[in-house]
Amino acid sequence: MAKARATRKTLDSYTAKGINKSIKPGDCVLMRPSEPSKPSYVAKVEKIESDARGANVKVHVQWYYRPEESIGGRRQFHGIKEVFLSDHHDVQSADTIEGKCTVHTFKTYTKLDAVGNEDFFCRFEYNSSTGAFNPDRVAVYCKCEMPYNPDDLMVQCDGCTDWFHPACIDMAPEQAKQLEHFFCQNCSSEEQKLLQNSHATSRHTDLKVGTKRRRR
Ligand SMILES: [Zn+2]
Ligand SMILES: [Zn+2]
Repeated sequence: MAKARATRKTLDSYTAKGINKSIKPGDCVLMRPSEPSKPSYVAKVEKIESDARGANVKVHVQWYYRPEESIGGRRQFHGIKEVFLSDHHDVQSADTIEGKCTVHTFKTYTKLDAVGNEDFFCRFEYNSSTGAFNPDRVAVYCKCEMPYNPDDLMVQCDGCTDWFHPACIDMAPEQAKQLEHFFCQNCSSEEQKLLQNSHATSRHTDLKVGTKRRRR
């Protein structure tokens, strides 16, 4: 075993069979799951190595976990394309690579014009043995005090700038999309006072309706 190990060499890149794309350390890849019914695994390639003849290529990976693979399971605020960077490292045959993918930061992801199959985002690191997340706190929004799910439509209050789910403020999504200005319950009483004192014409910027992400 020690002998075989000594003859292995590190590769700068590897062209995955079938997808014809060069994979390098640092790239994110989709890997064939253990059960065909499961979605592809998402991993970050750390190192690529082969035997002395360049065959039997293995990739060292760091797994991204999907919310349903985490101890706490999928929560309401988890996005469809959300993954957590885990502390779980592994070695896999390069043959299990199905394609390349991109794991965006949360900010970049919310700014994508279109989300492709190969686009994911990560805002948490995940400890696979304790189930703990880093950061362990995130900003919460709306009356329901939920972290932001980029797949959900939210409207922003012109007063306090908090974001709200239409459902939480008894509003239909269609109605929310057409709003030009919105004041939440707390702010609307103050707004009434202001309106009585002045004709606030263009005091407010346009309502930001965050259809952050369209479902495919
Ligand atoms: Zn809400
Ligand atoms: Zn408000």
